[in-house]
This record gives sequence, C-alpha cells and structure tokens, in this order.
Amino acid sequence: MRLTIQTKLFLSHFAAIVLVSGSVGTYFYQSATENLMRALQSRLRNSAALISQGLDTLNLDQIRVEADRASPAYKEHVLAMREFVKANPDIAFIYVMRKVGDKVFFVLDSDMQDPAMPGEEYSHEIASLMDGFIRPSVDEKITQDRWGYFLSGYSPLDGGEDDYLVGIDMRADEVQSKFEKIRLAGVLSLSLSVILAMIFSRLLSLHLTKRITNLATRFATIAPIEQDINHDIRGDELDQLSLSFDQMASRLSIKQQQIDANQLALHKAHGDMERRIEMRTAELVQTNEKLLQEIAERKHVERMLEETSRIDYLTGVLNRRAMTTRLEQVVSLTGRGANSFCTILLDIDHFKLVNDNYGHDVGDQVLRHCVEQMRRCIRESDELGRWGGEEFLILSLDTELAEAVKLAQRLCDELSATSVVQENHEISVTASFGVTQYQSGEALAYCLKRADDALYAAKAKGRNCVVVAEQD
Ligand code: GH3
Ligand code: MG
Ligand code: MG
Repeated sequence: MRLTIQTKLFLSHFAAIVLVSGSVGTYFYQSATENLMRALQSRLRNSAALISQGLDTLNLDQIRVEADRASPAYKEHVLAMREFVKANPDIAFIYVMRKVGDKVFFVLDSDMQDPAMPGEEYSHEIASLMDGFIRPSVDEKITQDRWGYFLSGYSPLDGGEDDYLVGIDMRADEVQSKFEKIRLAGVLSLSLSVILAMIFSRLLSLHLTKRITNLATRFATIAPIEQDINHDIRGDELDQLSLSFDQMASRLSIKQQQIDANQLALHKAHGDMERRIEMRTAELVQTNEKLLQEIAERKHVERMLEETSRIDYLTGVLNRRAMTTRLEQVVSLTGRGANSFCTILLDIDHFKLVNDNYGHDVGDQVLRHCVEQMRRCIRESDELGRWGGEEFLILSLDTELAEAVKLAQRLCDELSATSVVQENHEISVTASFGVTQYQSGEALAYCLKRADDALYAAKAKGRNCVVVAEQD
C-alpha cells in the first residue's frame, strides 16, 4: 500500500501522541485508583477505630446467642450502629465480632434485612479480619461472603473476656462506582486527547507537506516528469521530488554536454572564421593595392590624355583649343577686376618655302627651333600656344600694350638673328607680329580679330616686323 507523506506524517504523529497520552493516562489512572483505594481504606479503618471507641466490651460479653437480641445492650448498640450507617450512605453494614480460639462469631450486626445472629460463626478466613482483632486493619481487596461483595475495615475493642473487633463494610458496587467515575474521566480525557491528537497531527502534516508539495510543484514546473521513462512515479511527494530532481540533474548534464559541444564547434568556427578573415583581408589588401595602382595608372593616363588634349604634339606648347580656353578664363578674370592682358599673334614668314626647299621634316625642326627661341624670350608669366600651322599666339598677363610691343620686337629680333642647321643647310626664318591689348568688356574674338588684322598688316608691310593693332 502506498501512502502519501501527509498520511505517513499524520499516522506517525498521531500514534506518538496517542502512545504518550495513553501511557500518561494509564499512569494517572493507576495512581488515581490507588489513591482512591488508599483513601477508602483509610476511611474504613478510621471509621472502624472511631466506632470502636464508642462500644462497651463489658456489655458485649453478655450477648452470645440469638436470644440476646432482646437485651437492652444489644438494642442500644445496634441502634447506634444503624444511626451511623444512616448518616454515611456509602457504608453498608457495621458489625461486632468475637474471636474464641481460632473461630470468629458475630455479636452485633446493623443489617436490618438479613442480620447475622449473635453467636453465628463467620466461616470465611480473611487475613485482614483476623488482623483486625490485634490492630486497626482493612481489606487489601474486595472480599465476598454470603451478604455480597465488600471492602471492609476493622478495629479491635479493648477489654472483655475475649477478643473483639468492630467491622465496617462498604459495598463493592459503591467502590466500583467510585472507580468507574475515575475510569470514565480517564476514558473521556483519553478520547479528548485522541481527538486533539488527530487535529494537531492533521494540521502538522498539512503544514509540513504543504512545503514539500510546493517544492515538488515548482520542480515539476521546471522539470516536468516524463511519463514515458521507466520510472515509477506513483511514490509519495518525496519520491516524486527526488525523481524530478534526478531528471533535472540529468537534463542539466545533457544541456552541459550540449553547451560544451556548442562551445567546441563555436571555437572551431571562430578559428575557421579568423583564418578566412585573414585570407580575405590579405586578398582585400592585395586588391586594394592593385586598385591604387590602377587608379594611379589611370590618373597618369588621364593626365597624359589631358596633356595630349592640351599640348601640341609637335612643339610641346599649348594647342589652339587649350589656348582658347585659357584666353576665355583670362577674359573672365578681367571682367571681375583683374588687370588687362595683351596678345601677340605671329606667323612665320614664307614658311611654305622651307617645306618646299628642305622637306616637311625639316619644316617641323624649324618650327621646334622657333618655339625654343620664343620660350627663351618670353617671361615666366607669359603663355605660348600654337595657333595654326606656323602661327603662334603669346598671352601676356598684367601687361600694358607698350610692354607687349617690346616683347614682340624682341622675339622678332631673336628669330631673325638665329638660324637652324639641318642637313648641312643653315636655315634662317623671320616672323611677322600683330600686337593688341584686350579692351575691358569686349568679346575675345574681337580682340583676336584685331591681332590678326595687325599681323596681316605686318605681312603687308613687308614681314619681319611688329604691328600694333589699332585700339578703339
Ligand atoms: P607668308 O609669309 O605669307 O605667311 O607665307 P607662307 O608661305 O608662310 O604662307 P602660307 O600660309 O601659305 O604657308 C604656310 C605653310 O606652312 C603651308 C604649310 O605647308 C606649312 N605648314 C603648316 N603646318 C606645318 C607643319 O606642321 N609642318 C610643316 N613642315 N609645315 C607646315
Ligand atoms: Mg600662315
Ligand atoms: Mg607664314
């Protein structure tokens, strides 16, 4: 049979209380009955002694046979004894006995229904009775004779020819009823203690098991008991708690193993990841380096392309397009308050003849030579560009017309003073110059037109000279 902790606690506690209260009750019951017995015995003995003092033994010697009942002494004594009995309802009889040798005879008897006759022998051998002829004594236990069951006390009477005693009987049922009252009180207190034991045991078991049940419920919430496993879960609360705990421990162990395995995998993955990151980083660095290289190359190419788009391939000076852009910028700056500038347009004289006489390549060499000469002559702030085939334009910033004319003249002189030696031929060239100053607010084309007109005038004038454009 399977019992819950609550039932076990209840039963054990109940049994303990009942055992203790039973033992204590039994002890008190025994001691109460003994005390009662002693009190009764003491009363009987004392009553016997008291009555014995009121009896005259000399009168008793005369009462020996049934016929003596008529004697005044008999009547007087019996009446007194009956009065005493009347006054003490728990006393049944009072009597006086005489001992002759070993035999005991009645002398007086208070019994009104079935009195013992004077001289009637009392045949029962009762030790306490025989003792009562010598000293006050009392029955140790209830005794029986023809009048019923009694507890009796005895006291000797002094004087007379024979030994006398007075006996006093208390009915056994009277004694029994007194014991019965004690027993009843004992039973009642035992029942009460059993009821109280049941209540307290119940309360205690509830109080104790409530916490165990709570704990088991919380365990079951955290780790529900698996029904399919081979565990017997029909035990009490502690068994279930223990089972829940075992299962939780086992789950924790499994979880720990999983965590360990995951950590290992994570560690491995981390290692792999780090290696891949290192590889990828190296690749990225390489790619980045390549990209930077490519960007640098591209920038170089772009610069080259820009240069190419801006520079005349033959002479290395600005081409017409770049020069035009530059002129437009300068015009724009002048519009915003910058100083004025001058342009010098020059054209090599009779250059066609050079080509015709020495060939196109020599013509190219001559063109380069002219550019070198001009570069040497112009200032650092001046800009030189190839305007056409053998036509060049010089942009002189922050320059007044007079200065520009001087520069043009110096160029004219320098070019005419030098010559190019090619294929054993000394080739000399001259150039014609048209100089003009940009007029604030005018169109660039108009300024260039004036320079061109001045150049045309220089040609017309006979070449190898400088003509200043007419200013408006
Ligand atoms: P003018 O004094 O009137 O200017 O006479 P010119 O011969 O210089 O005049 P023209 O403009 O008729 O001739 C210019 C020549 O320049 C024609 C052309 O063959 C030559 N030329 C133009 N560009 C180049 C070039 O890049 N290289 C060479 N070698 N010759 C060029
Ligand atoms: Mg020309
Ligand atoms: Mg020319």
